[in-house]
Amino acid sequence: MKFSGWRVFREALTGHQGWTANWRNPDPKPAYDIIVVGGGGHGLATAFYLAKEFKQASVAVLEKGWIGGGNVGRNTTIIRSNYLLDGNEPFYEFSMKLWEGLEQDLNYNAMVSQRGILNLFHTDAQRDAYTRRGNAMLLFGADAELLDREQVRAMYPFLNFDHARFPIKGGLLQRRGGTARHDAVAWGYARGADMRGVDIIQNCGVTGFRIENGKVLGVETTRGYIGAKKVGVAVAGNSSRVMAAAGMRLPIESHVLQAFVSEGLKPVIDGVMTFGAGHFYVSQSDKGGLVFGGDIDGYNSYAQRGNLPVIEDVAEGGMALMPMIGRARLLRTWGGIMDMSMDGSPFIDRTGVEGLYFNGGWCYGGFKATPASGFCFAHLLATDRPHDTATAYRLDRFRRGAMIDEKGQGAQPNLH
Ligand SMILES: Cc1cc2nc3c(=O)[nH]c(=O)nc-3n(C[C@H](O)[C@H](O)[C@H](O)COP(=O)(O)OP(=O)(O)OC[C@H]3O[C@@H](n4cnc5c(N)ncnc54)[C@H](O)[C@@H]3O)c2cc1C
Repeated sequence: MKFSGWRVFREALTGHQGWTANWRNPDPKPAYDIIVVGGGGHGLATAFYLAKEFKQASVAVLEKGWIGGGNVGRNTTIIRSNYLLDGNEPFYEFSMKLWEGLEQDLNYNAMVSQRGILNLFHTDAQRDAYTRRGNAMLLFGADAELLDREQVRAMYPFLNFDHARFPIKGGLLQRRGGTARHDAVAWGYARGADMRGVDIIQNCGVTGFRIENGKVLGVETTRGYIGAKKVGVAVAGNSSRVMAAAGMRLPIESHVLQAFVSEGLKPVIDGVMTFGAGHFYVSQSDKGGLVFGGDIDGYNSYAQRGNLPVIEDVAEGGMALMPMIGRARLLRTWGGIMDMSMDGSPFIDRTGVEGLYFNGGWCYGGFKATPASGFCFAHLLATDRPHDTATAYRLDRFRRGAMIDEKGQGAQPNLH
């Protein structure tokens, strides 16, 4: 079914009886050419691009739970390409360009909203760092503007400019950044992949890999053995557990990150804003809720729920930046499991096992990467060559001393 304004009109006239399911619910076949493990944003995008761009006809996505139940449906929905380093910026700018055409590509309303992202700075040193980052973005073809204090005040007059512990000195603005409705991204990719013949199999957890003579033959699952010529793993916070079943130890730790939504308020923030003197980022959903977050909880866990100390910490960040947030009531909080890499940058690579590929290490920034991650992983799976924008995302970069230490804060997830 093709979605369009005309279709909505027609369905309204006929009592909405004509809508069909967005994807099938097939049983697993005995074997596929390519199996993608993990039905999050990255796994589904990989399957979509495998079918659409690389004409792969025999592809399955195996998801242990349900589509959208992982981080793709738990994040704070921010998309941007405001990175500094050579290894990262071309990749994230490629992702930004894919976001810009995504809804047309998927024929699905993912509510991609380029409402702008403003990173505030509070010291002269931070201004220098943001100037450098903005220049790097411009060099790689992205957009960036440096705003002074008065320009920020004109945008957000309610911020605490005059009596603040950390006075706002300006901000780095990327107007093409913004938000997208996170679970609609998963649904859109799932629908697009299914339409092109990909089997999306939910409630099918991968429990092991059948590997003989260094080559993968298939996967053991909660619904039996399924053969495959190639297997791509994209399981985000479960990366270390799943890859351990293939005998691999990854430079990744799993940590909890929480998100927060306030009660619905009248429009107050029309973009995305990040505090530069603490870890706090905020936007406002179309329903009016302030959507915000902060630091990871700081301990290793596979449980998708958070703890009170970080809620307090995030609330402090919000109060320091925009004191009136103290009047808003918190409606919901939840947690997701982040696959934190040791330099803050991801992996899209082959493994030591022939036919087994890995995608992970997205830390708390993998939502914005979803389109490019899917495209580049599909490229690697289909052609056995890395995509031009993802050549740095190798698993052996720590051994080679070629870290992509995006924030330059050292190899500790709690310092990212
Ligand atoms: C609170 C929070 C806020 C965030 N905010 C942002 C943000 O604003 N911007 C941004 O860019 N990023 C953000 N992120 C990060 C981003 O959401 C993740 O990096 C990204 O979604 C991870 O990729 P994914 O969508 O494929 O993960 P997931 O949706 O977690 O997909 C992985 C899937 O693998 C499945 N799986 C696991 N084990 C198995 C198995 N054995 N067999 C089969 N399936 C398995 C899981 O059930 C899951 O569905 C945030 C994350 C959280 C938790």
